[in-house]
Amino acid sequence: MRLILCTTHPSSPAGWRCTVCGRDLCPDCTGFRVAGQGRVELCMPCGSLAHRLRAHRSEHAPLSTTLLSSLRWPSSREGLISLAAVSVIVHLLQLSGGLGGLIGFGVMLAYLFQIVRHTAAGHDDVPAPEDFHNIFDDVIGPSFRALLASMWFLAPPMIWIYENAHSLRDVLAFDEIVPITPLPVALMLLGALLYPMSIIIGALRGPMYAMLNPIAVIGGALRLGSDYWRCSLFCLACSFGGGLVSAGCDALFDRVPIPFSGFLGAAISLYLPFVSFRALGLLVRARGDELGYGGGDAYRVAILDASPRHEVKPVEIASGSAHERLYAPIELGPMMHPMEIQAVAESAAELGTPTPQLEFEEERKAAPGAVALPETVDAQLPSRLAMSMATRDLDNARALLRAGGASIPASTLSAQSWSELARSMGEEAARTSPDEKRARAELSLLACMRAIELAPQGALAPKIWLQAARLCDELLSNRTRSDRLLRELVQRFPETDEGKFAARRLAAAPK
Ligand SMILES: [Zn+2]
Ligand SMILES: [Zn+2]
Repeated sequence: MRLILCTTHPSSPAGWRCTVCGRDLCPDCTGFRVAGQGRVELCMPCGSLAHRLRAHRSEHAPLSTTLLSSLRWPSSREGLISLAAVSVIVHLLQLSGGLGGLIGFGVMLAYLFQIVRHTAAGHDDVPAPEDFHNIFDDVIGPSFRALLASMWFLAPPMIWIYENAHSLRDVLAFDEIVPITPLPVALMLLGALLYPMSIIIGALRGPMYAMLNPIAVIGGALRLGSDYWRCSLFCLACSFGGGLVSAGCDALFDRVPIPFSGFLGAAISLYLPFVSFRALGLLVRARGDELGYGGGDAYRVAILDASPRHEVKPVEIASGSAHERLYAPIELGPMMHPMEIQAVAESAAELGTPTPQLEFEEERKAAPGAVALPETVDAQLPSRLAMSMATRDLDNARALLRAGGASIPASTLSAQSWSELARSMGEEAARTSPDEKRARAELSLLACMRAIELAPQGALAPKIWLQAARLCDELLSNRTRSDRLLRELVQRFPETDEGKFAARRLAAAPK
């Protein structure tokens, strides 16, 4: 796999790439900010969102480098414990004879199949025994699947003998020897190489017929190519090795009396099967998407196993009551004078019916027109705006709002963020030169409308409505438009503080 290096520190491997400036970033060039339950990762040089660099599992940890590690996988403490546990169960069942032996075989296979799934799912520890469901799923099923898979190498010699024997009975009694030619031997060896693919299908709980289906088995082997043949030869070697180890144990225990030799032999003989089923699991972990076992993002892993080094603290949001927070930065205009509020309080009840059918849409259409839009808008602008608001970089957010204007979709920010951006833009409008004031105030109004668009009945809506009305009055000197918004506010939220205030304000307005 190609190593990607940090743009700033060419000796450090990079694990992220900035979505805006395109730098490759090492952990030292990457920051994170806690955002809700999760966290966002940031490019320290430019402050924009950074994405993890990912690679396919087969490139990140190729089977050629991981396969041999399966040889020592069962030798961990937990590995040896489960090896011993499975051996005890299998050995005790075998001691009970007949059916018990078959059940022991099934239990062992069920556990081996589980190793494949557990490893394929990305785990490196030893699987805990699964809950027992029923005798078919947990004992007979695995045995039957193993039998089906072994047909790949058992069938050629069996068919050959059936076709060529004079008397099957004599063959079974070893009274007749059927001469074997190279063809059935070659087919048996090919079958032995394909047997692991059939086992994989069985272990992953694929349909039983697929285990015998040449298209599924041969096709799967061809799709995985050299990785498959490497793994298959490795498993074949493990089987031969396992056979030799079993024979060796039997010979040894026949001569030397060792306590619990039956159990010990079972445990030693299980070691290499653990290794080969682990190897099959590693193959599925690296290339399983090509067998239809999961896919997409699950097979793309971070190329650098590290965390960003810097925590970026969010800027404190101004405290105080919601009302203070909403209005504090803007100069208290005539509309908000406390004395005036007091003065109009009594006349609120006498307010006439507000003009009906005034739709917010009208305001929405009126506002963007005043904002000069650039010809083309940067496609990344909405995500940069979202990022700026998430990191409380309001200066940047206002600049982005000026650049994007009405082209920025409402869904870019939350209603809360739109309202904060509106307030910040309102402040900027209040302190800017008179010829700039108008455009900024329109943008602030636009942000108010986006907030209301997102949450027309939300808790913030009446406050934002009032904020918009004040903008029209104080910064755009458009009393008619302000009154229209106030009437709408009264109509929609008559019971809220803002609605009552708007009613008093309208009642006190000069006719
Ligand atoms: Zn950057
Ligand atoms: Zn760096």
